[in-house]
Amino acid sequence: MQGKSLQTVTVLGSTGSIGVSTLDVLARHPQQYSVFALTANERVAELAQQCRKFNPRYAVVTSEDKGEELRALLADETDTEVLCGLEGLCRVGSAGEVDVVMAAIVGAAGLRPTLAAVEAGKKVLLANKEALVMAGPVFLQALQASGAQLLPIDSEHNAIFQCLPYPCASLADAGVEKILLTGSGGPFRTRETGDLHKVTPDEACAHPNWSMGRKISVDSATMMNKGLEFIEACYLFDAHPEQIEVVVHPQSIIHSMVQYRDGSLLAQMGNPDMRTPIAHALAFPSRIDAGVPALDLIAQGRLDFQTPDYRRFPCLRLAEGAIDVGGSAPTVLNAANEVAVEAFLQGRLAFTSIAAAIEKVMNSTPVVELTGLDVVEAIDLNARELAKRTLGGL
Ligand code: NAD
Ligand code: MG
Repeated sequence: MQGKSLQTVTVLGSTGSIGVSTLDVLARHPQQYSVFALTANERVAELAQQCRKFNPRYAVVTSEDKGEELRALLADETDTEVLCGLEGLCRVGSAGEVDVVMAAIVGAAGLRPTLAAVEAGKKVLLANKEALVMAGPVFLQALQASGAQLLPIDSEHNAIFQCLPYPCASLADAGVEKILLTGSGGPFRTRETGDLHKVTPDEACAHPNWSMGRKISVDSATMMNKGLEFIEACYLFDAHPEQIEVVVHPQSIIHSMVQYRDGSLLAQMGNPDMRTPIAHALAFPSRIDAGVPALDLIAQGRLDFQTPDYRRFPCLRLAEGAIDVGGSAPTVLNAANEVAVEAFLQGRLAFTSIAAAIEKVMNSTPVVELTGLDVVEAIDLNARELAKRTLGGL
């Protein structure tokens, strides 16, 4: 490797699905990466275990109580200092010693720590798509102002990134006609639509190809995940909604494609394992081992493609509509979705009412311009309160 040989990494959300995969990749390359900070919300015992293995400078938990618990668990075993709350998260995301920040907190809770990393000019690996979706223009402005490098971890966006030239100032200049955003269609692609109202959280979280956290698993089952990714792609690649097409590809082998003016269609393929995009983004522009076996196309046999069923998956239509309207519409969509998904996971809302709740909140919220972080957070809060009230009537 050239230049600085040891990169220091903060993993925001290290106990989650992406966090654990990130640590798996980092552990394969101890000469190249050292862990600066790890963070978790509730799973303190798991975080303590990770601290024993990686001996980070800091570990961050959300509350003082959890902080005490973690200190007691670690006792004198590590040199790790325990910090608490949003301030701690922002501090380890922006500290001078940090080179790379993996943003893998789920939902709006990740916005401020991720922005702190962006504002501090870090190399930011973005898994936390909700942060970008809810704050798009504000997030991009911070990125431009600091010159931070943002690399997509979402497998689709990582695939698109890999299929585009680098750097890519504009899709038009690069000869791109269209981005084909692939999605498996989730666990209910072929389920009788009349039965969808009674699906359980565990059924919704049993994704056929990917193992993920519960919130994104439900998003995949409603296809809101593809909707959030549609919005994410518009922001990341400065694409107009008309330049993006969702293609259902049940096998999740092609992770997305870019269609060029000359008739070329570039695809990035691989086994469905998040360690591939994580390793790609960590090492970019180099390549490192991710622990992922090579794709066996012969064993795979076939790849299928279909158009999405917008009647079965109304969340996808809502998300595409939100980015078309622009301004605060994606912020409201994201907030209402987070509240509805949580209610579904807690057994308080039917699966099919998730889309209905989001639509109601969107229809009763005026669209405004996102002029700053305070505006984003106020809109997010209002939409959450409205969503909670709306759930009562469904
Ligand atoms: P997860 O639920 O498994 O993990 C979430 C992590 O965030 C945990 O470490 C948790 O402790 C932390 N967290 C949760 N709430 C928090 C809060 N209020 N404050 C601070 N920390 C909090 O989720 P995941 O599947 O790892 O997904 C993480 C992010 O990556 C999501 O935005 C998701 O959309 C995105 N993503 C995940 C996958 C995947 O395969 N899992 C793929 C693409 C994108
Ligand atoms: Mg994805």
